[in-house]
Amino acid sequence: MTIEGGCRCGATRYAIAADHIDAIYCCHCTDCQRWSGSAFSEQAVVRENAISATGPVIEFTLTTPSGAQSHQRACGVCHNRLWNSNSSRPGIVTVRAGTLDHNRTLTPRAHIWTKSKQPWVVLPNDVPAFEENAPIAEFTAILTR
Ligand SMILES: [Zn+2]
Ligand SMILES: [Zn+2]
Repeated sequence: MTIEGGCRCGATRYAIAADHIDAIYCCHCTDCQRWSGSAFSEQAVVRENAISATGPVIEFTLTTPSGAQSHQRACGVCHNRLWNSNSSRPGIVTVRAGTLDHNRTLTPRAHIWTKSKQPWVVLPNDVPAFEENAPIAEFTAILTR
């Protein structure tokens, strides 16, 4: 089965070879707030070889504070950012979960960078939350359980 999504203008569509996506998290860091133009970003972690796209995908690269290369993919028409890979995490990509067609069915499994969370965002008590980045082993365990 595939899970589909796309940009706002419709020129770029993508498909993920998976039955369901469980690895969903929200990031409340100030970069995500600025980049999304919103209170936080919602992300879906999927295998890089599972995603394919049709349409005018453009790519741009930036260097993160840790020195890794972040490769961002966006629609070439409307510039809606869709997913990214990172040289420090080979083999996986992070999809902007709000661009998935079925985004209403997703439930975040973790919240990170809550120290910069907007004060009006109230998190559920039963979902793990981390002040900054989650320790990678713990984060992986939460997302893949
Ligand atoms: Zn577009
Ligand atoms: Zn962030």
